[in-house]
Amino acid sequence: MKENGIGYGSFNVPVDRCLQCGYNGVIYNECPKCHNHEERKMERIRRITGYLVGSMDKWNSSKRNEEKNRVKHGGQQ
Ligand SMILES: [Zn+2]
Repeated sequence: MKENGIGYGSFNVPVDRCLQCGYNGVIYNECPKCHNHEERKMERIRRITGYLVGSMDKWNSSKRNEEKNRVKHGGQQ
């Protein structure tokens, strides 16, 4: 329970860092400042993004179940 609240706010915004020029910000394929595209020269802090993507599947399947339940409910009423 305690661990859930620690440092959550600071992880909401994904921020990458270019180790080559020191750029701080979102880096997609390459650094917008020095055009470095080597992953080894980047520091990526994006665990939250991976978590959100992973939970999307569960979201979809629970949504489908909800729809099934709704159909049953309507028939009983
Ligand atoms: Zn850079």
